[in-house]
Amino acid sequence: MIAPGEWLGLLGGGQLGRMFCHAAQALGYRVMVLDPAAEGPAADVADKHIKADYDDKAGLIKLAEHTRAVTTEFENVPADSLAYLASQLRVTPGARAVEVVQDRIAEKTFVAGLGVPVAPHRAVRVAADLDTAPANLFPGILKVARLGYDGKGQARVKTKEEAVAAFKSFEEVPCVLEAMLDLKEELSVIMARGLNGECAVFPVARNVHHEGILAVTVVDNFVSEFAKPATDAAIAIADGLDYVGVLCVEFFVLQDGQLLVNEIAPRPHNSGHYTMNACATSQFEQQARVMAGMPLGSTELFAPVVMLNVLGDVWYPGSGDLQVEPDWAAVLKLPRTSLHLYGKAEARRARKMGHINCTGATLADAVDTANHIVHLLK
Ligand code: ADP
Ligand code: MG
Repeated sequence: MIAPGEWLGLLGGGQLGRMFCHAAQALGYRVMVLDPAAEGPAADVADKHIKADYDDKAGLIKLAEHTRAVTTEFENVPADSLAYLASQLRVTPGARAVEVVQDRIAEKTFVAGLGVPVAPHRAVRVAADLDTAPANLFPGILKVARLGYDGKGQARVKTKEEAVAAFKSFEEVPCVLEAMLDLKEELSVIMARGLNGECAVFPVARNVHHEGILAVTVVDNFVSEFAKPATDAAIAIADGLDYVGVLCVEFFVLQDGQLLVNEIAPRPHNSGHYTMNACATSQFEQQARVMAGMPLGSTELFAPVVMLNVLGDVWYPGSGDLQVEPDWAAVLKLPRTSLHLYGKAEARRARKMGHINCTGATLADAVDTANHIVHLLK
């Protein structure tokens, strides 16, 4: 067990890293962040920042020498760096698990291999793979196998010709062509798996995306018919990867009631931000507990909650180009409302700037508050 007061290490510099720092620091740990940028959401609040590339040997050695355990806040960290760090100290999650989920082809193959359904798809490594793609994959979505996020690196394609053009526009990097599915809803499960294999699963979240970016998460102790199968699938995935750390499994529910796995994130997730104000333990505190070898925290939900993402768009009211600071005082005046801003210097459209958690005595109360905020931030 790593005691409070000791140093924990983090690879990555974004908002997930910032919230991890806050949670680890609240438990009394010190955090060293390795991130190539001169400043950023995590580096700004870390106890120490190593400015180095994720594959910079000197930076990794320094991180290994000064910390007791290392975690990550994004999936695209080089697996070799995780493997090197693992030869020196505890690394959660491990290189192998991250390697599987950072590649959509390997990820889908792994999940399907567990007997858990995924979207109909085909791996596209060369343009000829599209010639033989079955008709049921059109209309579809072509997704780059690596490095995509927030709907980036994706193209909606109606025909093979469009798919070939999109593949070329992605410079023919490996891709996955997925059938465009008629979604009834999207769910996610955030869970932690400890060093001893013990699992703690947060309540299932319902998510709404706009243009490929998460917009709203709603969580209640409602008895969803999908809560049990989604939870079981997430645990099977975590066990199958011998995963240690916090992970998120995103699901699609189809109109006909089928539950499919969309993708896995080997880290806390935007759809788990609700835990910060609605659960006994936040997903970030859970991440710190796992890496320190401490007992996992309770995942109990204290109140129904609506999480609203705050994108840079709200700094540009109407359709104008004029940047206006949103009226945060009006937001903070509302009951049971928690504002989290990531301290990003520049508000850009479609950029995640923060989020707001609204809890309520009932789900209807939380939804009322959230609707009020959506109106305020128009
Ligand atoms: P990202 O890595 O950007 O989160 P996802 O694969 O999760 O990529 O896609 C983002 C969103 O786009 C999904 O949450 C969903 O709303 C929509 N989407 C992705 N794939 C499909 C699909 N096959 N059918 C319908 N909608 C999809
Ligand atoms: Mg996603």
